[in-house]
Amino acid sequence: MNIEGLVDFDMRHVWHPYAGMKNPQRPYFVESAEGVWLKLADGRKVIDGMSSWWAVAYGYRNPKIDAAVSEQLKKMSHVMFGGLTHEGAVKLAEKLVEMTPRNLQKVFFCDSGSVSVEVAMKMALQYWRALGDRNKTKFATVRGGYHGDTWHAMSVCDPVNGMHSLFSGGLPINFFVPRPESKFGGEWNPDDISPMRRLLNESSSEIAAVILEPVVQGAGGMRFYHPQYLRELKKLCEACGVLLIFDEIATGFWRSGKMFACHWAETEPDIMCVGKALTGGYMSFAATLADEKIADAISDSEAGAFMHGPTFMGNPLACAAANAALDIARNGNILEKVLKIESGLKRGLEPLKNSAAVADVRVLGAIGVLEMREPIDVPAVQERLVENGVWLRPFGKLLYTMPPYVISESELRTVTDAVSKVVG
Ligand SMILES: *Cc1c(COP(=O)(O)O)cnc(C)c1O
Repeated sequence: MNIEGLVDFDMRHVWHPYAGMKNPQRPYFVESAEGVWLKLADGRKVIDGMSSWWAVAYGYRNPKIDAAVSEQLKKMSHVMFGGLTHEGAVKLAEKLVEMTPRNLQKVFFCDSGSVSVEVAMKMALQYWRALGDRNKTKFATVRGGYHGDTWHAMSVCDPVNGMHSLFSGGLPINFFVPRPESKFGGEWNPDDISPMRRLLNESSSEIAAVILEPVVQGAGGMRFYHPQYLRELKKLCEACGVLLIFDEIATGFWRSGKMFACHWAETEPDIMCVGKALTGGYMSFAATLADEKIADAISDSEAGAFMHGPTFMGNPLACAAANAALDIARNGNILEKVLKIESGLKRGLEPLKNSAAVADVRVLGAIGVLEMREPIDVPAVQERLVENGVWLRPFGKLLYTMPPYVISESELRTVTDAVSKVVG
């Protein structure tokens, strides 16, 4: 089959993310990728301004990660994790324990971000059951969040722009409070935490945990809020006897300008999810880290075990990629790169504030966001971006980029110039 034939077959038979199968948008066909560049079948080359949805932080065909995965292939691609272990998994756990907040000492490997959120929520429930509390079965969160597409993850995504209406009646009911409005870098308004305080004061007997994305709300709206919210929330959770879960799947590994976004607040969660850039985007993998008290309670309970164990748990190839990726994250000059990207994004995007079509411009770390006044015509805008050498995937009113950290200054300028052209 030639390329056209492959794409035709794709459009007839293959689901794509959040897409239908009648008159789908014709997908671009990627032949290969290297560094920040995607090579399309029609000969065009485009810069991946999305890092393949936050994941490919260190670039495609990263020599160190390529080598680590190739080496691992010679030993074993997979082995079950029940009753067995291997070097890659142990080393990875050691790194995660060292890099994440100090209290997080126990690591559960998952096969995707959504699964790590399910695991986090399940741990919170099992924790309270282990302590003999069967009323704490609900979760609380802020509006505008995104935590994945599986069942319970979906139940804590934003109830309006998430998928609640579609599945109402089937989804577990959780508690939502308004999202924090105090902006990152702006003034802290103490009223921001009031709705959460009211909720926890009234309903903590039903609430197992609060779950949210620290500082950066990703797919739910690309917003950056004041870290003070997390400090206040932590105090509240402790006072009310509610666990705190941070979803760092998008924000982890320097994306917001810190190794983890919770470092902006110096606040430790009880449970934390990481994923996406964990393997440098080489394959689907994630982890849920938990505080010792949670592991102890679950292990001392009647069940005596945490009841979860995916087939591909601790997959050696994924561990090899993740070990190489975390070595880059820990020992490279990544922060320096992220800060350069931040100033490049500010330089390139902030002038667009003056455009009549633009409602807001936000930059934090290696994330740049344009919020337009009107919804974006995605296929048309995407084609114009591709013509200008850039791959982005806007949604709603948001045109945004979180490029791989290995992007050069001139490549970054290509991205911001393309955005300017499309907007202006
Ligand atoms: C992407 C994402 C998830 C889901 O991860 P998948 O690997 O797509 O299942 C969960 N939470 C956040 C914050 C994310 O950005």
